[in-house]
Amino acid sequence: MKSSAQHAPAQAYPRTGPSEEPVAAAVTEPSDVFAKAHQFTRLREVQAMGLYPYFVPVQASGSTEIIINGKRGVMVGSNNYLGFSHDPRVVAAAQEAIATYGTACTGSRFLNGNTELHERIEDRLAKLTGKEAALVFSTGFQTNLGVISALVGRDDTVYIDKLDHASVVDGCRLAAGDTVRFRHGDLDDLEAKLRQSNGGGKLIVVDGVFSMEGDIVDLPRLAELRARYDARLAVDDAHAIGVLGKTGAGTAEHFGLTDQVDLIIGTFSKSFASIGGFVAADQVVIDYLKHHARSLIFSASMPPSACAAVLASIEILEKEPERRLNLWANADRMKVGLKGLGFDIGGSETPIVPVVIGDDLLTFEFWRQLYDNGVFANAVVAPAVPPHASRIRTSYSATHTPDQLDFVLEVFARVGKGLGVI
Ligand code: PMP
Repeated sequence: MKSSAQHAPAQAYPRTGPSEEPVAAAVTEPSDVFAKAHQFTRLREVQAMGLYPYFVPVQASGSTEIIINGKRGVMVGSNNYLGFSHDPRVVAAAQEAIATYGTACTGSRFLNGNTELHERIEDRLAKLTGKEAALVFSTGFQTNLGVISALVGRDDTVYIDKLDHASVVDGCRLAAGDTVRFRHGDLDDLEAKLRQSNGGGKLIVVDGVFSMEGDIVDLPRLAELRARYDARLAVDDAHAIGVLGKTGAGTAEHFGLTDQVDLIIGTFSKSFASIGGFVAADQVVIDYLKHHARSLIFSASMPPSACAAVLASIEILEKEPERRLNLWANADRMKVGLKGLGFDIGGSETPIVPVVIGDDLLTFEFWRQLYDNGVFANAVVAPAVPPHASRIRTSYSATHTPDQLDFVLEVFARVGKGLGVI
């Protein structure tokens, strides 16, 4: 898709007033498991206002533009940090893998779904992250489910930041041991909780970059706590791989603390323009996980085309470090621009830049006006963020052009002023 400075407004669905479409009252027995579905009226209320921002069907896309309902818009709501999803080399690698292996492995890696491509990714990732070995899962979500539940046994405790990703939270729910949550970024709170531990193994799990805030975890302090309290440390680098560190190896490389992070977890659904996830660690841990992580063993493997896209992405990341520099230049330009306009961008330190609005409905209205003016961002409300901290989440790519970014700033300024946010 060719880049264009002309961004016609997108109008995917008509606006109606909240009073125009009465919401049906729930009429089910409270004992019916469907009662909660019937009581879930908020969805229709927001749809009736024309403000529903989710599951928007995209008709076509480039690395930084999308077409929705026949209209072109600038995408600032994806996690395509390096713009690899539409790089011709990545696309060609995926097509070639389909020709060689077909579209799917139709089974788990454990039995019939392992290919040389899966193993090549593991070798490359072990080298990139500086770990002995790596293990590839079918998604990042499944990686966290499998890794945490396999490692945290009955007598163990897992310590997680309150803003860790949902897949970390669900991994803890599946684990036999206890889960202790500490306040976001509050490592004094974590330390107090580690001090209260009454034996058993300890695993600390944090996001390297928090997906809704864009802040970076305080890894040096965590490494101290790991050593002092004899804990293991896992970092979910979904938003840091390809982004942080001088070779794009993530948070541990950024801080020069690779040896003190026991498990580096990541996804291929962001910088690596594909789908899948991985964990990198000591060989002995990887061997154990390979035979105990249920989300790996009992789920079909990544399609070969997805593997080939990852391999091509890693190759380009290594050959073209300027990609990462462009990404950071774009992110900095937007942080300065949005802040300069008077928006609250929270504590963003990365290419994830939230624009905090506060109220849910105002956030949906803001999202809709951006959308109508050709800018596609994400509306994020509780429980993905704390209550009253609703926001427009924006994230930037190495391939956004200066023209596109200026256009986005101009629309934000117009919408922000119109709605009284700035
Ligand atoms: N961890 C974090 C921090 C994430 O942001 C995400 C994706 N939003 C995941 C894990 C899950 O990754 P995937 O999309 O590969 O399932």
